[in-house]
Amino acid sequence: MGKSKFPMTAEEVKIIKDDYHNFIDSINPPLNEEDSKMIDEAFTLAVEAHKFQRRKSGEPYIHHPLEVTRICYHEIGLGPTSLTCALLHDIVEDTEVKLDELKYRFGTKVAKIVDGLTKLDGSYNVQSPQAENYKKVLSTLVYDVRVVLIKMADRLHNLRTIGSMPRHKQLRIAAETSYIYVPLAHRLGLYNIKKEFEDIIFKISEEKKYNEIRDKLQESQEQRDSYISEFISPLKEKLLELGVPYRVLGRPKSISSIYNKIKNKNVTFDEIYDLFAVRIIVDVPRDKEKSFCWQVYSLITDVYTPIPERLKDWVTNPKSNGYESLHTTIIGPQGKFVEIQIRTERMDEIAEKGFAAHWKYKGNETRMDVYDRWLDNIRELLDDDSSTDALEFISDFKTNLFKEEIYAFTPKGDMRIFPKGATALDFAFDIHSDVGYHAVAIKVNNKLVPMGYKLSNGDKVSVMTGKNQKPNENWLKLVVTGKAKSKIRSAVKEEKRKHGEFGKETLARKLKNMKVDFDLNVDMLVKFFNFKSRPDLFYAISNERVDLSKLKTLKIVGRKLVKEVKQKPVIDNSLKDKNRREDNADEQNINPIVYINGEPGEKYDYSFANCCNPIQGDDIFGFIASGSGLKIHRSNCPNAMHLLANYGYRVVKAEWGSNSNANFVVDLLIIGVDSGQGVIKGIVDKLSDDIGVNIRTFSINGDEGYYEGKISIFVKNNNQINLIIRKLKEIDGINSVERIEK
Ligand code: MN
Repeated sequence: MGKSKFPMTAEEVKIIKDDYHNFIDSINPPLNEEDSKMIDEAFTLAVEAHKFQRRKSGEPYIHHPLEVTRICYHEIGLGPTSLTCALLHDIVEDTEVKLDELKYRFGTKVAKIVDGLTKLDGSYNVQSPQAENYKKVLSTLVYDVRVVLIKMADRLHNLRTIGSMPRHKQLRIAAETSYIYVPLAHRLGLYNIKKEFEDIIFKISEEKKYNEIRDKLQESQEQRDSYISEFISPLKEKLLELGVPYRVLGRPKSISSIYNKIKNKNVTFDEIYDLFAVRIIVDVPRDKEKSFCWQVYSLITDVYTPIPERLKDWVTNPKSNGYESLHTTIIGPQGKFVEIQIRTERMDEIAEKGFAAHWKYKGNETRMDVYDRWLDNIRELLDDDSSTDALEFISDFKTNLFKEEIYAFTPKGDMRIFPKGATALDFAFDIHSDVGYHAVAIKVNNKLVPMGYKLSNGDKVSVMTGKNQKPNENWLKLVVTGKAKSKIRSAVKEEKRKHGEFGKETLARKLKNMKVDFDLNVDMLVKFFNFKSRPDLFYAISNERVDLSKLKTLKIVGRKLVKEVKQKPVIDNSLKDKNRREDNADEQNINPIVYINGEPGEKYDYSFANCCNPIQGDDIFGFIASGSGLKIHRSNCPNAMHLLANYGYRVVKAEWGSNSNANFVVDLLIIGVDSGQGVIKGIVDKLSDDIGVNIRTFSINGDEGYYEGKISIFVKNNNQINLIIRKLKEIDGINSVERIEK
């Protein structure tokens, strides 16, 4: 956000005040006097504190906190305390107002939540790796879920207005969002927000494809509406007979999920049968919910044929994020498959707004519910002080944000929920970490199974333990849950540390004999023997996996060991990469190909990433890799999301220079139906005669009339490759031509 010398104009103040009053009027039921006073005070303070600030778009900054507050109320369903905090959320970080003042004026609770939000914004702190910040997100999550819910609203508004940001920042924010906020939104049941996150992310990374699908969805809207009325007409009378209010909606799937279907299932837009789901919502009292949902199900299946495998009953067993609904797929009018979602108004509000709505309905039930159990799980992961590095922690945690779930039971019949793919050993760790540590044998449905046995729904699991059993490194391969992983990891670490003592003594003795200092040399030796840390080296020495005679190849200078120069044990990838390119490039390749942060790329030691091989014209960014200089990746590189999300601070802006004579190697995958030798000749002729590009390698494999060809060619830029792809597609017998990564 920019600071300007000029405060908001009187006109701007009027606009924002009107805006605010409209918002307050939309709150239903209206706020009581006390809450209304608190929120007014927060608004007045926020207007005053932010009055010199403007957003990138030029509008007064105060619009942002107000919009975030609106999202908190209308889209998440949060209460007055959260609305107050949302208005104040950027105040401590960006203005002169101190936390103490908030505490004095609004109380401890508000101050603490704002403090949590301020700390979360450290994720824009360029010094600290993103993973550490995620850990912070999670600590505030277990402290007070409202911090994360308000943060979601903040992120959503920033994404909605991301257009005014520079491109490389957009990419970074998109990646960070999809890495952590999308799964969190899912886990907190904020389905609508999740859907919007995904669509904005998709729009940022593939704008053309996004627009294409959006337009097609709009064009087909009328058709969908008339299909839904055709579907519902034979049901209307029967639904009326139920004697309760009901609504029927057709909800289109998100644009990004439609795109994923097109891509993964290799179908066209028109071939996707489940572009939308039909939702039937009944308004019934809480104790009649289940019976009415099944009555509606039965009404529908009297008329239409259901597909039994597609029946999902989340009414009897809600998902662990609180989602409740009855799903089925039926064969509808015109023989089309239609997904049906049957639920009550209460279930629908939870499904749309998630966490906050869930609590609203939970009332004062004291029973531990799905959320409590989940939060407890995170708390445990966080408490585990095995000082796992943040990245490990995040990947452990992410399995906790699982999508598909299975239910298994203890011998006493307690139900436990696991991510799909969880094993018998995961179950043992879920019961208690001690049960996990000492598990010797596990029975599922009374039969002995291997520890890595994958659980299925309804399995009954019992674990036998033995005092002398302990975890080893292989166990990590037998589990998928974060809890089990982190417990095993810390046990193994402890084991290694014990053994390592012995290895450390061995090394110390050696160095003493060579008359050099231990502390001065040990970190160099960790690198020299290619280990990540001291304990890893010591442990390997104790297992005799290190050839200590290699120490003799080192020179002794005073009390220090020194590597002979030029003896590089590691192959430098960036160098290899460059050579390959130079071999291929025209001799007079002199112009800078890439501008980095606006300067000619030559000033930096840059190279092109092997994982995605960018070519002139591709959308790109630069990434400062540790040890191998600056790498240029494509924005849609398969690694990009991970890099952008975790190491956003190492991302730099990169653009193509205008004219370069460089040649780039591109690999294409061609799939088609074999019509004899003609195809190969057709491809080669087209490429070399018609288009005039050089073929580097070409291989083709076929089977029963179907073939796959891989062809590697030299091109100048991405316009040329698009032209080539178009031209190749014109050849008879070719079904698809696609650029591939490797
Ligand atoms: Mn904000």
